[in-house]
Amino acid sequence: MAHPSSARRSVTEHRAAVAGLLEPLPVADRELADCLGLVLVRDLTAPVPLPPFDNSAMDGYAVRAADVAGAGAADPVTLPVEADIPAGRTEVPALRPGTAHRIMTGAPVPAGADAIVQVELTDGGTERVEIRAAVAAGTHLRFTGEDVPKGAVVLRAGTVLGPPQLGLAAAVGYAALPVRRPPRVLVLSTGSELVEPGTALLPGQIYESNSVLLAAAVREAGGTATVLRFVPDDVDTFLGAVRSHAAEVDLLVTSGGVSAGAYEVVKDALTGRGVEFVKVAVQPGGPQGCGRLDGLPVVTLPGNPVSAALSFELFVRPALLGAMGHTVVDRPRARARLTSALRSPAGRRQYRRARHDEGMVEVVPVGGPGSHLLASFAASNCLIEIPEPVTEVTAGTEVDLVLLN
Ligand code: AMP
Ligand code: MG
Repeated sequence: MAHPSSARRSVTEHRAAVAGLLEPLPVADRELADCLGLVLVRDLTAPVPLPPFDNSAMDGYAVRAADVAGAGAADPVTLPVEADIPAGRTEVPALRPGTAHRIMTGAPVPAGADAIVQVELTDGGTERVEIRAAVAAGTHLRFTGEDVPKGAVVLRAGTVLGPPQLGLAAAVGYAALPVRRPPRVLVLSTGSELVEPGTALLPGQIYESNSVLLAAAVREAGGTATVLRFVPDDVDTFLGAVRSHAAEVDLLVTSGGVSAGAYEVVKDALTGRGVEFVKVAVQPGGPQGCGRLDGLPVVTLPGNPVSAALSFELFVRPALLGAMGHTVVDRPRARARLTSALRSPAGRRQYRRARHDEGMVEVVPVGGPGSHLLASFAASNCLIEIPEPVTEVTAGTEVDLVLLN
């Protein structure tokens, strides 16, 4: 699509262009411990029922309910204890009428028993036990397959694997699951002014912060990040750095060097090499680029920290989630009443840093629109989205929010 220099690409168009760079990631079986946040690609059925055998829900005594029918606190029934069944015992003798087996929670219920008397209703004896209450048949028994019948689908394809889903997969016997592997992202920050946090600054230098922010955002989305932090504004050094890592990653995300000045290293290096540089109708974060360098998908983000962070949110995060097989790739949204008036440039979708209250009634803008104001971003819990045609929003108006975290 042609974009004359005056025309801006819409947020939606650029988002689609970035998403279109990534193929669905390859599927492989992966150990459960490494599946958190990944997406299951096939329906998962239970090879065994859950529970796999009838077992006791209490520490106590396995009995025949009929044998303790008359028991009460004043007139207990005493039974001989003929076996001891801790959890983990795999061969259990049958219960003979008129006897009890001591049994622990999770232990197999012996054939012939139809109820458990919890230990608190007995004297706790090991040779003989005094039972001080009657119990109905079925009391404190957990039955085979009552949670999951054998062969049932336990997790559907498309499920995002969180702690309970991983626990369930293990409970029915899976050691590994078929998932799309996490995307591997090379995060590369350019700028000859950037130095390592923890070292002294010379006048004109700043601490490099985008790479740590972007790598954390990659990990939060479920990917892994390789970081190259101090690539100077030099085309050959930049291309050399990228090419030495290109084979190990699925996506290159750069920060800086894409706007209209001189020394725009990313633009200079990638123009004419398969990456298209555009202006997107968004604030902050207008100058953007995406494409392929020697086949490697590349997304180039502007260098101002809030622009880089917001561009990642808008363009990169949904693309990564989509490639991982997530069907929901957007942050949750809400609406709330704006506490003070805002202005927004015509023809651009503006995102303003803000905080909403707990009840999501009111939203307070935090700081101005400047794309270098990182502290206000760190103090925000949402973004106010002001649509392209809107130039003024008055206090008291209901606005759209993108909820962060
Ligand atoms: P650029 O897009 O390279 O022109 O950078 C825009 C602004 O963002 C400049 O003020 C840069 O110093 C700053 N900046 C660029 N990259 C980083 C970075 N990795 N960490 C912190 N600030 C940066
Ligand atoms: Mg720069």
